[in-house]
Amino acid sequence: MGEFELIQHYFKQAPCAVATNAISLGIGDDCALLIPSPLTELAISTDTLIADVHFPALGDPFLIGQRALAVAVSDLAAMGAKSIGFTLALTLSTVDELWLKAFSEGLSLKAQQCSISLIGGDTTKGPLTIITITVIGEVPYGKALRRSGANSGDLLCVSGYLGEGAGALPMVLGEKLPETILLDRYWSPIPQLALGVALRDKATACLDVSDGLVADCGHIAKASNVALVIDLTKLPCSPSLLANYNEALCRQFMLTGGDDYQLAFTLPSKYLSELTQQFPNVQVIGRAEQGAGISVLDEQGQLVTLAQTGYQHF
Ligand code: ADP
Ligand code: MG
Repeated sequence: MGEFELIQHYFKQAPCAVATNAISLGIGDDCALLIPSPLTELAISTDTLIADVHFPALGDPFLIGQRALAVAVSDLAAMGAKSIGFTLALTLSTVDELWLKAFSEGLSLKAQQCSISLIGGDTTKGPLTIITITVIGEVPYGKALRRSGANSGDLLCVSGYLGEGAGALPMVLGEKLPETILLDRYWSPIPQLALGVALRDKATACLDVSDGLVADCGHIAKASNVALVIDLTKLPCSPSLLANYNEALCRQFMLTGGDDYQLAFTLPSKYLSELTQQFPNVQVIGRAEQGAGISVLDEQGQLVTLAQTGYQHF
């Protein structure tokens, strides 16, 4: 099977490549053509996943497809953007049709869940599998959720359970007996798109937690020139995480584990009750204060010292 057949068969004809009103031209020409809504800004973000760095090379290709798209779309959610389309740059060492079929099916399932369409890409041969996804979304002019708007006095909130991705990782790597719920959180994160849209006129700063809560909240603190105080006792720990790890590890995963793709955001307190009615998983975990940096307080209000704050690539 040649390059063009491969593109045609596994991508152009796949359910993920279905055209919408915002797409005037999809896969097949030199560029895709999009029609953004009037008075919107485009939100664009790229994520690269490298075999055996970001996913196990021999992992289930269906799950790899799901996860690759989910982590990319999560950045749109974090900006309060609505998804439009994505491109897929795929480097493969061989054409493995079974792998491609399952990968395309996983990609398509997640694309449907996230209302996003495959609009183009690039297919190349290389020594190992590399998946690069660029997502494109739109947000009403001036309404995007940046990292830089937090004010002293705002609440610090998260969209749901933390630490599940980190708790799943030893299972993904075959170092611990697998547990279905945690594995599903790792392989199929759910981008918080509806929450992101709801936060447009409320949150003062927002991001998605990909590298670890403390490290990522550090980005908000720095960009916003505030201090963020996290109350350890308020962090939402899932029953699955608790069932598989002791309390100390759960806390470590919640504070510094990556791969959760929950949103962390700062919110003026007047919006909290309305927001939690619509999104009951939203949890207040701390507050913004004058100053700089992140501090974590334990049940006695004592400062917790952390060995590391999150995942770093270098
Ligand atoms: P060009 O040489 O003009 O850059 P290509 O021959 O690489 O175009 O690709 C042909 C068409 O197929 C283009 O529309 C491109 O966006 C699309 N395409 C290539 N690879 C992929 C892929 N992995 N997934 C989706 N679309 C792809
Ligand atoms: Mg071209």
